[in-house]
Amino acid sequence: MFEFFFHKMFNQRAGGIRIDLPRQGRYRLLQRRNGNGPMQQIIEKLLILQDRDRRILHIRDQLARMQPERQSFQSRAAATQAGLEAVKAKVKLVEMDRKKLELEAESKKLQIERYSLQQFQTKKNEEYRALAHEIDTCKESIAQLEDRQLELMEQAETLQKEAGTATRQTEETRKLADGQLRELATREQSLSDELTALESNRNQLTADIDERALRHYERLLRNKGDNVVVGIVHGVCGGCHMRFPVQLMVSCQAAKELVTCPNCGRILYYTPDMDVAAVD
Ligand SMILES: [Zn+2]
Repeated sequence: MFEFFFHKMFNQRAGGIRIDLPRQGRYRLLQRRNGNGPMQQIIEKLLILQDRDRRILHIRDQLARMQPERQSFQSRAAATQAGLEAVKAKVKLVEMDRKKLELEAESKKLQIERYSLQQFQTKKNEEYRALAHEIDTCKESIAQLEDRQLELMEQAETLQKEAGTATRQTEETRKLADGQLRELATREQSLSDELTALESNRNQLTADIDERALRHYERLLRNKGDNVVVGIVHGVCGGCHMRFPVQLMVSCQAAKELVTCPNCGRILYYTPDMDVAAVD
């Protein structure tokens, strides 16, 4: 029955073999086989600490990902906003160009008025004809200026529509980003709270662990991540998979001292169910 249970919970993972027995079950197994000697107690405490540290590292990892996530929400909103500003600037530019043409046309009209007055005042036919020619030229220019103004007005109209769409998109993106940022902040707060609680609780956990064992554990935690108290599975290290000589398994089973993997230095523990698994 235990064997079945063990196989069910036994996970092969990319980072190495990891025993994922539920916490209570794992310690019951330890106690059933080896009683509750000092070394078992140390191992138990280290396993509880390791569970705690896994959660702490997981939360720190999640928190570390939040800043880039926040930046991506913000920059997406900023990009849509910038798009809108660009369209608005184009609208303004087209309107300015159109206004310039309008002023130019008005000055041509004034010019025509002046030429007409001169025509009215002159007695010379030649001068009259020359002025008439000037007036025609002005009228042509005005017609051209008005055509170009119409083109610009059409352009402005298209751009206004674009600006309308961009405004709506910007609002939607902003609203979405605001929601995402709020949700992120809530998640961040609750993770930070949990982290604070876990870290303060961690000090209580470490307080009564054998100092040497704890130092060794802490060093491994810094260098090897969160899988440092490992079971012997199928006669190999649950961390680095090195096959152990029988003698090492025997001393681990005897549980008189802290046994570490000669290859990776991880702290080893032994349960009879692991032995059963090794026989398979
Ligand atoms: Zn190892």
